[in-house]
Amino acid sequence: MLNANEQEWKNERLRRIGEWETHCPWDDFIDEPAIWSHLNRPAPSAERFRDIVAKARDNASTGQMLPPEDVAALLNARDPELREEVFATANQIKQTVYGDRIVLFAPLYLSSSCVNNCAYCGFRASNESIERRALNRAEVEAEVRALVNTGHKRVIAVYGEHPESDADYICRTIEQIYSVRVGDGGEIRRCNVNAAPMFVEEYRKIKQAGIGTYQIFQETYHRETYRKVHPANSLKGSYRWRQFGLHRAFEGGIDDVAIGVLFGLYDWRFEVMGLLYHAMSLEKEFGIGPHTISYPRMVYAENSPLSVRSRYLVGDDDFKKIVAIIRLMCPYTGSILTAREAPELRHEMIVKGGVSQMDAGTRIGIGGYSRMAKKHLEHREQFMVKDSRSLDEFILGLCKAGHLPSFCTAGYRQGRTGAAFMPLAKHATVNRFCIANGLLTFREYLDDYASPEVREIGEPEIIPKYLAWVREHVPDMYGEVEARLVRTENHEHDLHF
Ligand code: SF4
Repeated sequence: MLNANEQEWKNERLRRIGEWETHCPWDDFIDEPAIWSHLNRPAPSAERFRDIVAKARDNASTGQMLPPEDVAALLNARDPELREEVFATANQIKQTVYGDRIVLFAPLYLSSSCVNNCAYCGFRASNESIERRALNRAEVEAEVRALVNTGHKRVIAVYGEHPESDADYICRTIEQIYSVRVGDGGEIRRCNVNAAPMFVEEYRKIKQAGIGTYQIFQETYHRETYRKVHPANSLKGSYRWRQFGLHRAFEGGIDDVAIGVLFGLYDWRFEVMGLLYHAMSLEKEFGIGPHTISYPRMVYAENSPLSVRSRYLVGDDDFKKIVAIIRLMCPYTGSILTAREAPELRHEMIVKGGVSQMDAGTRIGIGGYSRMAKKHLEHREQFMVKDSRSLDEFILGLCKAGHLPSFCTAGYRQGRTGAAFMPLAKHATVNRFCIANGLLTFREYLDDYASPEVREIGEPEIIPKYLAWVREHVPDMYGEVEARLVRTENHEHDLHF
């Protein structure tokens, strides 16, 4: 039950959302009959399928997305041999655009209070077994210190929708996250945000606080399902308010946005098409597509029967297809596979799905990094994660598989966002920065935080491997990268391109 203050705050926002809905300036971009008309076509012939895959491969250096009819055809294909071709192409596209690096981040939960009642979520207002709170200044500091002490440089700050965690709280906590310093070079250099859709003036404030990417998941693009899982009188009950949440963010000056759905609420093929149409709408209105796409799968959440009984839960085989097809569909976008998935599947999909970003050492409970160490506590968490390895264990796994772990946050600080970033990703020239900055940040990690096991493989194998990549692919940068690696080894920090 909401208290009087929460109810009043919610009612005022509902009133303003209602006003906004009557003047919404954008065209609805989810045309359900059109999506179904694409999806209801028969599976493509092998020849047509291979034409589409070849087109996707070419798109890696032109920045084009696949059109809806092609994405639907990929989603409809069932032949296992063709599926392997999608996996191989997803990896090729990722190598072309970003190179073989994985950017690492940590989700940082700042508040667990929420006025909404989403059927799949442990934080929903009616779940009385969850501990409710917004972190105070001392707790935020403790969380950031704990994260920085493991080696993290990038977080996504996560907030419930609640008067305690409104736009002012978000601004204060972002500023605080950036202000924490631990020793030489121990700091968070980029703070992305996952929070509820806002009004334009609120986005302006948050932009001023120096956020990175603003992330909103639509959860499901299917209206009837959306209505079923988000009660009508809740803030999240307005499909349209959420659908255009990132459009309003652009109006508020935020030029770097991220989309996603919660797979398991509705037919996964429909949801992939929804992501495509969302990306197309952002491109059409602002000329800038999503910086990242996330595809969390619904997992067990405390006291949420839907989270385990939904008839649309996605099995591993279909999930792998989803990850790879998203890479083919939108080659320039960052692709995020989270710790909701088990370690084996995550490793497999780095290669087969062209995944480019992952969270590691993840704790999603409130106060999780400073207080819970290795344990997960259901009464503090929104859902349960399957990959609970420490950051160092995760990095060891990446190194053993030959990937470059990266803590790069340079794009933001070099002004490579929005319209400045998109051409680099779309024309596959951003990888020159990705690998160079990945190398420098991994060098920092090796010197400041790595276990002996990680050093044993990172020093003789990973650093030389990717330095050789720089020499071969971006020879004009080689000398400077080599020099900055030496300076980093000599305890200079945050050297970036
Ligand atoms: S999904 Fe988000 S909005 Fe819905 S109950 Fe959970 S925290 Fe609140």
